Order: sequence, then C-alpha cells, then structure tokens
Amino acid sequence: MNGQFVISLDFEKIWGVFDVIPSNGDYIENIECVDLVIGKLLELSSKYNIKLTFSTVGFLFNKNKEEFSANTPHELPNYSIKKFDPYPLIKDIKDSEDLDNLHYGYQSLIKIASQDQHEIGTHTYCHYYCLEEGQTIEQFEADLKMAKKVASNLNIKTQSIVFPRNQINNDYLKSCFDNGIIAYRGFEDHAIYRSYSENKPSKLSHRAMRFIDSFVNITGEHTYNLKDLRSSSIVNLPASRFLRPYSKKLKFLEPLKINRVTKAMKKAAKNNELYHLWWHPHNFGTHMEENFEGLEKIFKTFEQLHKSHNFTSSTMTELANRLKK
Ligand SMILES: [Zn+2]
Repeated sequence: MNGQFVISLDFEKIWGVFDVIPSNGDYIENIECVDLVIGKLLELSSKYNIKLTFSTVGFLFNKNKEEFSANTPHELPNYSIKKFDPYPLIKDIKDSEDLDNLHYGYQSLIKIASQDQHEIGTHTYCHYYCLEEGQTIEQFEADLKMAKKVASNLNIKTQSIVFPRNQINNDYLKSCFDNGIIAYRGFEDHAIYRSYSENKPSKLSHRAMRFIDSFVNITGEHTYNLKDLRSSSIVNLPASRFLRPYSKKLKFLEPLKINRVTKAMKKAAKNNELYHLWWHPHNFGTHMEENFEGLEKIFKTFEQLHKSHNFTSSTMTELANRLKK
C-alpha cells in the first residue's frame, strides 16, 4: 500500500472545552467561528482533493432543545469529579442553533455530509471521558449507542472514534468494535504523549516537551509502517502530530512548525507509511488567515507527494478497511 495521509478533526464546539476555558469568555470567539472554519476547511480540502474525518461530538447532531431531551442515553456518566459532566449545562442552552451556535452544530454537519469524500466519525455522544473515576463501561456503551443513533438519523454509519482528551481505555475498545467501530486514533508512541493515557495532569516537563516537539524534532517523525497497523479487530491509526494553532507571539516559529509536519509527510510518502495529522476546528477560530495559510502549505506538500509517490489521502474508516486482516 502507498503512503497514507489521514486528517482527523475533533468537531466538538463548546462541549470539548466547557470545563477548561477561562471564565472571562476569552476563548468564546474561537468557538463562535467554528462553522466558518469548517466552511473554509471544506473549500480548501476540495481544492487539494483531501479527505477529512470529522470526529464529532454527538450532541452537535441535535437540532433543538427538545432533541437534546429526547436523545438522553439511558445511563449517564457518573464522574466523581462533577465538573466533567456536561448534562447539567443542557438546561441553560438556547432553543435552537440559530440562537446558539456554541452548543449546536447541525448546519455544519449537513454541509460536511453533502460532500461525499469526507467521513463523519464520533468523538462520543457527550465528550465522554473513558478513564475518569466513577464512570463505567455500561455508561460508556449507552453513550456510544446514542452517538450512533443520532448519526444514523442523518444516514451516517459511525465507524471511527476519537476518544476525548485522548483517554483511551483498552477495556472499552472491544465494546467499540462490537458496536461497529473499526478504527480509533491512538496517541503518539512516546513517553511525553503516553501520559494522556494515565489520566493524571500532564507533568509540566511533558507539556513543555510536547510544545518544543512541535517545532524541533525531539521525539521523531511519528510515521507508522502500515503493515504494523493491520488488525482483525479495531484498527489503531495513531496520531502523528497535533497541528498547533498559529500564535502571534511565536510567529517566528511558524515556518519550523510547518516544516516539522511536511518533513514527516515526505518520510511517510517515501516509505509507504501513515502520517496522521489532527486538531480541533476551534483551534483555527482566531488568526484564521494565518492558520489557513499554514494549512495550505501542508496541502501543497500533499499535492506534490501525491504526484511523486502516489501519497494517498484517506478517511480513518477507508484506511482501516484496507488494513483489516
Ligand atoms: Zn475533544
């Protein structure tokens, strides 16, 4: 198989950040602009024939508040730390998307679904944390079934998952597979990324290293031999890199960041490996022009590598199907 380029986007709006954003409203603009970002992503990916996988929080399929109430799983996550629970927030959301684009996402989903090349996967129904204390596998399964149900109303068959906060609970993978999920995004295989799986606050040193690693090669290219990914069960398509958003303060580092990505893409193309890039649409919600400028450089590199090495853009499910034993 030729080298493969996968892009997964955690489409979550406020449901992915409500427990971590500053209370002074500083991050709200990023969320408000998500629909705009998605429109631009669809445009740019069409221009370069790139397929995107939108790993979507199931809440975003609800068109109004009645649907939120009707689509309540029969078991809810019983987190010991209550601030992780999004359900109490639902009573305060507005009645429909036209009045509240922070909590709804149906209009963007329709746009994505209308372009056949992309995939809509799941990021769980409620942005579910699989390693948090208090929640159980039964609660997870109820959540996953609801995520599948709301997607099926739009004729979408959910076959891939990205776990919120990269909390991967190995015991839950079988239950995903039993529910028709054939691919998930694992984390980069290095100690500074593995800490995601331990469900402890990342050590400062790991956070700092992850930051530096975005610009300078500390942990390697994180490209993956496709043969090693083959599986008869759920396929792990590990992340290669989080595409860090543009920062005005660090704009002098921008070329290094993009170069770190394109260099690894070249390696993947030449060696028939996987390169899996990911981020959240809300990361592009501010400094949109600069973020898209960087992305277009990445897409141009893909275009060249497609010509020279038949480097192929795939959705998560397409690739998993090819990797199934
Ligand atoms: Zn998320």
